[in-house]
Amino acid sequence: MNGAAAPTRLQLAEPTAETLATVATVVQNVTMPRNDRQVEVCNPATGRVITTVPDYDPAQAVQAVATAAAAGPDWAARTPRQRADILRRWYDLIIEHAETIALLITREMGKPLPEARAEVVYGSDFVRWYAEETVRPAGNVREVPAGGATLLTRRAPVGLSVLITPWNFPLAMATRKIAPALAAGCPALIKPATLTPLTTYYVVGLARRAGVPDDLIQVVTTSDAAAFSTAVLSDSRVRKVSFTGSTGVGKVLLGHAAQNVLRSSMELGGDAPLIVFDDADLERAVNGAYAAKMRNGGQSCIAANRIFVQDGIADAFVEGLTEKMAAAVVGDGLADGVTLGPLIDDRAVSSMQRLVDDAVAKGAAVRTGGRAIEASGHFFEATVLDRLPSTAEIANTEIFGPVAAIQRFSTQAEVIARANATEYGLAGYVFTENLDRALNVADALQTGLVGINQGVPSNAAAPFGGMKQSGLGREGSAEGLDEYQEIRFYNVARRETH
Ligand code: NAD
Repeated sequence: MNGAAAPTRLQLAEPTAETLATVATVVQNVTMPRNDRQVEVCNPATGRVITTVPDYDPAQAVQAVATAAAAGPDWAARTPRQRADILRRWYDLIIEHAETIALLITREMGKPLPEARAEVVYGSDFVRWYAEETVRPAGNVREVPAGGATLLTRRAPVGLSVLITPWNFPLAMATRKIAPALAAGCPALIKPATLTPLTTYYVVGLARRAGVPDDLIQVVTTSDAAAFSTAVLSDSRVRKVSFTGSTGVGKVLLGHAAQNVLRSSMELGGDAPLIVFDDADLERAVNGAYAAKMRNGGQSCIAANRIFVQDGIADAFVEGLTEKMAAAVVGDGLADGVTLGPLIDDRAVSSMQRLVDDAVAKGAAVRTGGRAIEASGHFFEATVLDRLPSTAEIANTEIFGPVAAIQRFSTQAEVIARANATEYGLAGYVFTENLDRALNVADALQTGLVGINQGVPSNAAAPFGGMKQSGLGREGSAEGLDEYQEIRFYNVARRETH
């Protein structure tokens, strides 16, 4: 396709008064403690304040450490079945309250309501998964190679876990950490992103209703994340930190963790390559690329960040993707029919505009979109950039927005080298109908996960995590439980008896 397609609808879709009234009630019903100092939570679709949450200072955060730590031994002493039953009740309550949670997610984070509902399905499944995993056999028996002894390996909870989550998946990032911590027998202190704390308060409330002891999970919201982590991670009662967020902040937290040699799990930034070969099924590739790019408005760590398309299929692919992107309906995520909500804040919108302008100045072609939308919220058009030069800043940065940045390539070897030329290594995507090529390229990508002919690879059974500067450790699956357990062994001397 040559010129730009029809622009994204600039008419922003608005929710009905009835929906707004329902959501206001839902927000009012989130129970959380009051505090002398409060911090505002804003609606990214309007920029207006929704409510306030406690703004805890470091001394209060340390008090929360003490409270959670004191609740730990009793929880660790419960049988696996008791913990499993409580987790399962928590899952059931989340499903019972799915619509309320989805409304909260959309209100505080902005994603369209159908996507928020999908997050409830995805996020709750971690709770169900770990309810099931809690009672699976752990530990094993090994023979000492030289004989004369038997090794018993056992698992113990790692201890008080500090969980720090980002704003982009307010439910799933919390459940992916809290559920394995509880399953393993650990107390937890969670600090949600200050931009999106309501979902966390709500689901932790449901966990208590399900039977999780009141003190066991502490929620700490604060406007000073740096002071929080300095105080909390230096407390010797803390034994683990699990963080999801940017690589820069992850490095700061690893510095703190080093002081007390904390077990550390880091889910950090991404720069996912998505590769479409000439022998791909075009429709699958377009739909997969759209999903991998546009889920969460592009604000996902596994979003297709660099789209590489082979020369023979490139024109048809660009045309197909442009058509889908141009059809995006932008607006408040609570309005019917919206497929692209606001970005999280103004900074994100300015960053999109700067990246697009730089790419165009360096020779990229805008196929659709390309502009910030005038509104009180933070909106940017669904955008396709074609023939992106590799020198453009957008080709070398985590975009985190609805801009599909397409580069072209000619050979498999060339695209593998370009795909791996990044310090990140979280996700990659390969589209081809040739099984050998799919597996060979997946093997060659330096990423923790690869979507083959599909754009939404994560679920509760998947050991999600990154290589290189995208992180340490895995979340979800049986491996996600390992992160909250110490593996110990007993060496039992054996001698003959008669
Ligand atoms: P961020 O790093 O700015 O913030 C993440 C969390 O860390 C928030 O709760 C924030 O308040 C807190 N934080 C910030 N500075 C801190 C400090 N000094 N000490 C303690 N906590 C601190 O990231 P973000 O903008 O919220 O999220 C976007 C980033 O997260 C992207 O880079 C994205 O790729 C990454 N991410 C990664 C994954 C993954 O699983 N790998 C998942 C989602 C998001």
